[in-house]
Amino acid sequence: MQIEEFLSRLNRVRQLPDGQWQASCPTAIHQHGDRSAGLRIKAGDDGRVLVYCHAGCHAELITAALGLTLSDLFAEPERRPGAAVARSPAYMTRDIASVVAYDAITASIALDHVQQGRNFTADDMAHFQASAGRLFRFAQRVGGSV
Ligand SMILES: [Zn+2]
Repeated sequence: MQIEEFLSRLNRVRQLPDGQWQASCPTAIHQHGDRSAGLRIKAGDDGRVLVYCHAGCHAELITAALGLTLSDLFAEPERRPGAAVARSPAYMTRDIASVVAYDAITASIALDHVQQGRNFTADDMAHFQASAGRLFRFAQRVGGSV
């Protein structure tokens, strides 16, 4: 995805003097909306869109809130003929670790619900299914199988 396309999905977008962009972070962690526009966006050297939230929202949450996945932050290979898609292994490992940690918490919340005999709402179900899907995709990406 090109940075312009990513920016078009955000609110309160403004370019900063250093060439980065700021916008409101779209995650639900900002309960009343991100009034401080604490999200920073910039284009990485490899064409990747880099996002950073001052409140600490993980990139996976930010992309999910926009209806995207982390892989959407990478430049599409067909737009860069001849160039290898650069993905840093360290970045991938950190990324996967954060997602696994987040989804482990989600799973424990789900178990808690079950134990208390509470029903899941449609939103809960969507959340848990998205969580399972994320874990599965990340496992596949690092070569895991069932
Ligand atoms: Zn945030």
